[in-house]
Amino acid sequence: MAPTDDNNNIHMLQDIDRAHHLHPFTDPQALKTAPPFVVESAEGCMIQGQGMSLLDAMAGLGCVNIGYGRTEMAQTAAKAMEELSFYHSFAAITHPAAAKLADKLAALAPGNLNKVFFANSGSEANETALKLIQYYWLRKGKPNKTIILSRDFSYHGSTLATSALNGLTAMHEPFGIKTKGHVEHVMSPFWYRFGGDMTEEAFAEHAAKAIEDKILEIGPGRIAAFVGEPIQGTLGAIMPPKGYWPKVAEICRKYDVLLLVDEVVTGMGRTGNWFAQETYGFEADLMSLAKGLSSGYQPISALMLSDSFAEVVEAESAVLQHGFTTSGHPVAAAVALKNIEILERENLIGRIKSEIGPYFKQALETLLDHPLVGEVRVEGLIAAVELTKNKVTREQYPYEWGVCQHVANAALMQRLIVRPAGNVLVMCPPFTISSSEIDQLVNGLSSALDQTYAALQNV
Ligand code: PMP
Repeated sequence: MAPTDDNNNIHMLQDIDRAHHLHPFTDPQALKTAPPFVVESAEGCMIQGQGMSLLDAMAGLGCVNIGYGRTEMAQTAAKAMEELSFYHSFAAITHPAAAKLADKLAALAPGNLNKVFFANSGSEANETALKLIQYYWLRKGKPNKTIILSRDFSYHGSTLATSALNGLTAMHEPFGIKTKGHVEHVMSPFWYRFGGDMTEEAFAEHAAKAIEDKILEIGPGRIAAFVGEPIQGTLGAIMPPKGYWPKVAEICRKYDVLLLVDEVVTGMGRTGNWFAQETYGFEADLMSLAKGLSSGYQPISALMLSDSFAEVVEAESAVLQHGFTTSGHPVAAAVALKNIEILERENLIGRIKSEIGPYFKQALETLLDHPLVGEVRVEGLIAAVELTKNKVTREQYPYEWGVCQHVANAALMQRLIVRPAGNVLVMCPPFTISSSEIDQLVNGLSSALDQTYAALQNV
């Protein structure tokens, strides 16, 4: 709808929304006292709503990589919709955009990831992976390989099966989701939090060994796959210690455990390479993509399969009993192709590596002097500012104090959007962010941290 132009309209929208819209990841009780914020339009790195313009250092939910409001994308969607508003891809049918997108992704993807299954969300891509992993082991005559290894602090989705992978019991308990016998969690390679006195290399060894220990404890004959995000984005932009991923890949190979890499956030350029597997030097059997695949302009996701995995899936004649009505939707696929064209044409990923990523890193690292900041982690254009009560002991503020939320709220007052996750401020801005927007972000964060620090002195 067109942007609202008066307050009555906003209030009307808020009222009908509160009456009828059940929001994801929202406390419905809190909505009763504080109405939803109405976002009306967006351009570049800025979103507009309720008479305000805000710098979105989160690119929506880490997806709007090419920035908001590109006319070219709207035109592509309109043209695609005029040509072919919908057709499915079941029963050996295809259409130009889906075929070309699959071909393009196979060309871009690392290793032998050459086959693509399309879905609509990251959750669906990971759900598809879980089903295909079971399918794979059944076809290989190893029906006991059913357990998936995941990690604490991971996020892989909101469907019933992918929720069980998530590394926070708060995402299991309210729904009565049982992980036992299906999913086993191992430690997160969170060096700042769990590394103690270990060097980065020693901690990488330690965290990888936790996976090997778990495989041996349960028995390799029962472990189907290990799943992990290269950077644990949602729950704190937790970066892997140097050497961790190649070790994990080696352990998986050693015990015949499939490696599913969840590149829903990191894929399509976020770390300065097309895929974080290139950044960290490893290859997976399966890779899930979503968010940046279309820069959030259309819902579309993909699960990519390695040649050897696809070979097993495709070996015998049998209809694959899996799929979504809108798998490879022609409009979404055309938009994803245009998104990739823009990333290439404007060298947006190269720019992360050579120019704006290093600028982002050095700007954020100036916050290390702040008494509230324990660590600053940056890889490409994803970053974490880790808050601490004590820089030496790395003691955390109790979550219920809401310190991180306080900083995020103070930043919001300065028209900046960052994401609080536990005691971490997470940022992953559009790839088009300028150096002056980064300055604005860091200056604003610095004063938000000052305000919170001052408030803490009165506690
Ligand atoms: N995997 C990761 C790493 C994610 O960050 C997310 C979403 N935040 C998902 C999967 C799920 O994606 P979606 O919300 O599109 O289902």
